[in-house]
Amino acid sequence: MHKCNICGKEMNTVEDINLKGFVIHGWRCECGNEHSDPNDVDNIVKYFKALKKGVEATVYKSGNSISIRLVEA
Ligand SMILES: [Zn+2]
Repeated sequence: MHKCNICGKEMNTVEDINLKGFVIHGWRCECGNEHSDPNDVDNIVKYFKALKKGVEATVYKSGNSISIRLVEA
């Protein structure tokens, strides 16, 4: 159960939150408020950091969350 920090209602689990082109898991409230799964956000951030460093990385779905795989050069 995930409560909205704006209106206090229970948020619905969704699988369609768009973050920088990736569709991730999170919660959405009737009031329009959205929370992204912090673990998924972490992994997307790691992915972009890896790309910046020139490390090859791929994003894949693991259950209903996102994981990344780094390919060391
Ligand atoms: Zn709300």
